[in-house]
Amino acid sequence: MSEQTYKIICLLLISFYAIVRAPYQWRYRPGRKKTRLFHFRESILIVFVTVCWWGSSAVFIFSPLLDFATFECAPVVRLGGACVMLAGILYFWRVHHFLGSHWSPALELSEKHTLVDTGPYRRIRHPMYTAIWISILGQSVLCANWVIAFAAGGSFLILCLIRIPDEERMLASELGEQYVEYMRRTGRIVPKLR
Ligand code: SAH
Repeated sequence: MSEQTYKIICLLLISFYAIVRAPYQWRYRPGRKKTRLFHFRESILIVFVTVCWWGSSAVFIFSPLLDFATFECAPVVRLGGACVMLAGILYFWRVHHFLGSHWSPALELSEKHTLVDTGPYRRIRHPMYTAIWISILGQSVLCANWVIAFAAGGSFLILCLIRIPDEERMLASELGEQYVEYMRRTGRIVPKLR
């Protein structure tokens, strides 16, 4: 399979990811949120991840500039990576469906924020981040490129390390014991081992 084909698959999958997110982004109304934490820091983090992940993907797809960072990978493994990325995006879709209007690009609480603990949220507290990790892993194998793997994975790791503790503190202070108890029975990114 030619390198061009992998690039086209990558472009299609990234477009699918954007299409899944688009309606939620479209319906999102910052004015309806009552609390917004670390707004400046969160905005910087979002721009940082977007530039690193989507920027490196665009350079990979539309130019030969990242060819130097290619690693050896059998075609069947690269296609497997595409399937993993697709699975990550489908899971991302399902998570959006369950989080619904509680979704926000940064750390925010709506006027009447309630706990979502069903569907993908039943055993994992941050399934949207899990979905993004699966997508990044699949994409790195599909592209067989170190720059994509480190730029996307590294930037998203930084976002998770900075954001997740504050997100959990924010939800615990809003929802109280209900969230604390929810934390006890769920894992952050993968389900808790019983
Ligand atoms: N971290 C979550 C959600 C990301 S969207 C995930 O990975 O699935 C970010 C917003 O989701 C936050 O501002 C927070 O208000 C909201 N949120 C996160 N977990 C939630 C939950 N279990 N119930 C309701 N809202 C939640």
